[in-house]
Amino acid sequence: MTKQARKISLTRAKELKNAISNYSQFKKQAIIHEKDIKKIYTSRKEQLLDYFNATEDDWNNWHWQMKNRITDVKMLKKFVPLSKDEYEAIEKIAETNRFAVSPYYLSLIGDKETDPIKMLALPSRAEFHTELGKEDPMAEEFTNPAGSITRRYPDRLIINVTNICAMYCRHCQRRRLIGETDHHTSLDDINKSINYIKNNPEIRDVLLTGGDAFLLSNERINYILKELRKIDHVEIIRFGTRTPVTMPQRITDELVNILKKYSPIYVNTHFNHYQEMTEESKKACEKMANNGLVLGNQAVLLKGINNDKYVMEYLNHQLLKARVRPYYIFHAKRVSGTTHFIPKIEEGLEIMEHLRGRTSGLAIPTYIFNSPGGLGKTPLLPKYIMSHEGNTYKIRTWENKVIEYTEKD
Ligand code: SF4
Repeated sequence: MTKQARKISLTRAKELKNAISNYSQFKKQAIIHEKDIKKIYTSRKEQLLDYFNATEDDWNNWHWQMKNRITDVKMLKKFVPLSKDEYEAIEKIAETNRFAVSPYYLSLIGDKETDPIKMLALPSRAEFHTELGKEDPMAEEFTNPAGSITRRYPDRLIINVTNICAMYCRHCQRRRLIGETDHHTSLDDINKSINYIKNNPEIRDVLLTGGDAFLLSNERINYILKELRKIDHVEIIRFGTRTPVTMPQRITDELVNILKKYSPIYVNTHFNHYQEMTEESKKACEKMANNGLVLGNQAVLLKGINNDKYVMEYLNHQLLKARVRPYYIFHAKRVSGTTHFIPKIEEGLEIMEHLRGRTSGLAIPTYIFNSPGGLGKTPLLPKYIMSHEGNTYKIRTWENKVIEYTEKD
């Protein structure tokens, strides 16, 4: 290398280092924050174990976690500081839109009033404003040709297998299905769904979701997978689950041993904030990856939680370390009682603009707008082609450097 080339390289390297200096600062703070959250987690976990007179083995058992979900405000107040206003709002909203939080996820709630985990898990006064949304903006009701199917695309469909979740996220797009009671889809509806797939050979990809598909028993999961794998045209099977986030105890050896028999199995999880990436959740993801399951993350862009370029960048980096590929960032849907979470599309585009170039493509999910009425996903992207005349394009780079490119005939 010539001296001149080295000099140019060093100047460029300095420029690139400067381009992520703000993120580097953010990362240092996030690491301190994670340590604080870990302390809160440890102490609240002890408090919960004391209260339930439970052991570490109980804590690590997903049935125990489900049985002891916190579902009423009086009990909640014993573990999480709540103002009088918060207490009253939660009590009132829970009359129509229940909440339930696994002890594990409850332990992750930080001290701040605007703590992201608290906002994701606990009802707030903003949910009273139901007038700006619809119960079912995706019109899923009109996309159910048989059993408990949702079919919106030519070659793939969903089977809704349950309405149960370890934690009822306050931004849930399917909150209308949460209802008053927990129930799994009947075997009859599951069989009708499987029969529909048998009779429609263009269906090559089946997504099991709900609710949370990993809330089914191991036996029921095994049954569904066995039946689906008897159908030659079903190439891949996917699960939609937030259990690695809200109750990682569900990712047991028995479960992954069942799943790996039916490869290829894809698991889409739903981390929204780096505060959700605990040692337990990372281990759960690693266990799945070690057993050949392919992991992707679907985050939802939520105001006050993750509509921040550095939060998203850091989350995506933590996901990759746990072998989960950031797959989608969804623009939140206009569901009644959740519209306070919806940021501006402009904010989502700014995040995408920030990520491109500053981090590797592996850490960049696709930003998706779900068209109302069941018209499907549309990717949203910053504009990189500035103009186009004949076969000449004016294109800007991630650093806003403008180049001209002429295509050869
Ligand atoms: S886990 Fe999924 S389906 Fe369940 S409440 Fe959360 S967003 Fe809704």
